Amino acid sequence: MAKKIGLDTVCVHIGEVKDQQFKGAVSPIYMSTSYQFTDVDVRRYPRNYNTPNQENLSKKIAALEHAEAGMIFSSGMAAISTTLLAFLKIGDHIVVQNTLYGGTSQFIQEEFPKYGIEYTFTNGYKPEDFEAAIQENTKVVYLESPSNPLLTITNIKRVSELVKSRGLISIIDNTFASPVNQNPIDFGIDIVVHSATKYLGGHSDILAGAVACSKAHMHAIWKVGANLGGNLSDFTVWMLERSIKTLVLRVKAQNKNAKALAKFLNGHPDVKNVYYPGLKSHPEYKLAKSQMRGFGGMLSFELNNGLDALTFQKELKLIKASMSLAGVESTMLSPCMTSHASMSQEQRDSIGITNELIRFSLGIESKKDLIQDIKQAIKATKKLVKIEA
Ligand SMILES: *Cc1c(COP(=O)(O)O)cnc(C)c1O
Repeated sequence: MAKKIGLDTVCVHIGEVKDQQFKGAVSPIYMSTSYQFTDVDVRRYPRNYNTPNQENLSKKIAALEHAEAGMIFSSGMAAISTTLLAFLKIGDHIVVQNTLYGGTSQFIQEEFPKYGIEYTFTNGYKPEDFEAAIQENTKVVYLESPSNPLLTITNIKRVSELVKSRGLISIIDNTFASPVNQNPIDFGIDIVVHSATKYLGGHSDILAGAVACSKAHMHAIWKVGANLGGNLSDFTVWMLERSIKTLVLRVKAQNKNAKALAKFLNGHPDVKNVYYPGLKSHPEYKLAKSQMRGFGGMLSFELNNGLDALTFQKELKLIKASMSLAGVESTMLSPCMTSHASMSQEQRDSIGITNELIRFSLGIESKKDLIQDIKQAIKATKKLVKIEA
């Protein structure tokens, strides 16, 4: 049913907790950690991910991702780690995309050796890179598209088909696209994970994670999840429900701003290398268009003419030089100092993350104000370069 009703309606109405008592317009919050055990069908307990608020919001997540089942976690990393540990055990192997979110990459490299789980990072983001990394004991293939921070686009359908033909499980991190722009399950992906801290939350004020997949896969994830205890508090579940009501409005505005700013930066003499899948010059523009409804609110770029990335970001007045992404406010950061700081310079160079690279998360402000801020920051940076010279 959920698939047939409009996306905006899913955001507003699916998974509401009906207020039977007072008929209020929004979901009541059930904060109980203790529920009656006699004469009931369900043994409710927050760590079982089955309180009224948890259960209902899971339905919204499932509907958003065209999945049978959804689940909410206390962070993106709780969702990702629980999901991976549900399908990997000692002696198993996982293939992971080389341009991975830093926290996921760190989790795999630091924790998997303790459990005897082997891993291989691909050499690139193309289907043949994934194929080349598959071994006899591979169980899971894990990808991100668009990737962080260079916005590479992987052919989701071809990777899903490859994974299916080998009888493996495919997992994608759909955080950057959000379900507004991309539904990987429609292209054959088995499991979708999200950092709901980003677009689903969207206001830079809650930490949360989400998973969407088949009921059978979800049962396996749920069992591990109850053991690990990565559930989200019911109050924050309620906050997340409230946030998702405006998901489509926010992401559409962010898509629009990102496209406009990508075009502005692309033509600017003090800017080189703009990375945005919605630019016709992006190497995978056609592929992006075939699997995304919008190109997203994230882009990256490098300043030209020796202008210093850090000075530029310090000179910004409206756009914040801040960590994280996907809020209604625009932010920029240097991946080499933040999200990818744990990598060596060599590792970063090998995947194209230069010290000049700036990642830009578009908010919903007026486009002209964002452009004005960038213009004045470039001017100020140039002045400083001249003074130093
Ligand atoms: C932030 C992020 C995560 C981790 O999510 P947390 O909510 O910070 O635990 C995972 N993947 C991507 C792509 C992210 O941006």
